[in-house]
This record gives sequence, C-alpha cells and structure tokens, in this order.
Amino acid sequence: MKVIEPHIHMIARTTQDYERMLRMHTVACCEPAFWSGYDRTTPQAFHDYFTHISEFEPKRAAQYLIQHYCYMAMNPKEAEDVEFSREVIAFIPEFLDKPTVLGIGEIGLNLNTKNEMIIFAEQVELAVQRKLLVWIHTPHLKDKLKGTKMMLEYLKGHGGVDPEKICFDHCEEHTVKMLRDAGFWTSMTIYPVTKNSPARVVDTLEVYGIDHMMVDASGDWGPSDPGTLHDAIVEMRRRGHEDEHIETVFYNNPCYFLGQCEKFKFRSTRPRDAAWRV
Ligand SMILES: [Zn+2]
Repeated sequence: MKVIEPHIHMIARTTQDYERMLRMHTVACCEPAFWSGYDRTTPQAFHDYFTHISEFEPKRAAQYLIQHYCYMAMNPKEAEDVEFSREVIAFIPEFLDKPTVLGIGEIGLNLNTKNEMIIFAEQVELAVQRKLLVWIHTPHLKDKLKGTKMMLEYLKGHGGVDPEKICFDHCEEHTVKMLRDAGFWTSMTIYPVTKNSPARVVDTLEVYGIDHMMVDASGDWGPSDPGTLHDAIVEMRRRGHEDEHIETVFYNNPCYFLGQCEKFKFRSTRPRDAAWRV
C-alpha cells in the first residue's frame, strides 16, 4: 500500500527521515509553510524559506523516490504584525505557479486574535481568487474549539468559498463533526508526546468514519516522528479494519483532496466512496 503524508515540515528533518519514509512506502509528502521554531526578523527571511520548500526540498525528497509538494502562507504564529505579514503575502504569488506548490497554507489561528483573523481572511481571499487548495492550522489545546469555530463561521459566511478545497488540520474529536457537516476536509495530526496519539486518531475514525478524513504525523522541529503515521496504520490493522478502508485514509483520501490541484500527480486506486461514514 502506498502512503501519502499530507502535512510534514521536512525542512526540520534529516535525510534519515526521508530514508525511513521511503521504506514505509510514503510516495508523496506535503509541506505547508509554517513557523520555523523562531520568529523571522525580516520578510526576506520568508522569501528564502519559501524558496527552500519549493525548490530544495523537492530535490532532496526525489533522491528517496518521494514527491515533495508544498503550500505558501504567512503562518498564524507570526501573523500578529499585520503590516509585516502583508509584506510577506505580497510576494507569495510569485511562488504559486511553481510546479510543486499546491496552494495556500498553513493559514489559520494561533491565539485567536483579531490580527491573526485579518491575515487569515486576506489569504483566504488570495486562494479564492486563484481557486487554490487551502490548508488550515487550528490552534492547539484550549484555544482549538473557539478558533476552529471562528474560522468555520467566517468561511461559511464568505459566500465564495468551496469547502471541498479546504482542509482543517490538527482536528480532534470535538472539532471533526462540525467541519465535515459543513463539507470541509479534516486531518488529524499525531504527536508522540502531547495531543493526538495513533490510538486516539483511530478511535476518532471509528466514531466518525473515514469520509473526508486524513491523518498526518507533523514531523517538525519539536518532539515529533514521521513514523507515527505508520503507527496509526498498524493500529488500524491490529483492530481488524479492512485494508480497503486503511488505504482510503492514508492514500486515497489525500489523492481525492490534493488531486483537485492538477499539479498533484498521484491518482486514487478506487473511485470515491463514502461507504464507511457512520
Ligand atoms: Zn504544520
């Protein structure tokens, strides 16, 4: 079975992780633009970062037979300074036509502030104008429910947004249902120490079904591990889930979502079906 990693920050990972992902049958990974573990001091630093994830990482990944894609954005953790953020957003369009750039992301909220919301909305506009995929970061821990609702209400009231082209990430039990009911994609991020574990992610899949659901491992600069994605596959197997359903979550669903961008070259093994929704 092939595996797609829909959200990972390979800039923070060693080549050993690419080797491991290759051995675990990962054929493609997507790197949304995000915080780099420190606040960048100039817009130019973002320009260099965007160049890195759209030019260098695809070449590094290709050595391990992995197709690397990315998204462009001013991330919510650095979006509090509106003028600074606008300087960054101003040069995002020059990256959008590159062959591996799928859309806008991670945009979203961190502390649910008014300024973060302004920058979120301006980047949604950029995506809507160009009909791009959007990858949304939802806040962690206590701010998650409130921040998710704020963005959901904004997008529902927008009028020009296609929910099918938008995925909310870092979803948990209490945020999945309202997003899918509104037609959006959801992804759950596994972390080895805090937040979602492989078992908890599989619990959520068992409660809500696999339609419009993805799983990612969020390899980044903190405690994280690309292998946790595969731990979730093992957990589904161990619980006796059908291979077809496992493949839907870890390969076909990413194909359905990402395949809406013609640059994404992988195709699902089966036509789309929502049979496992409960
Ligand atoms: Zn991320």
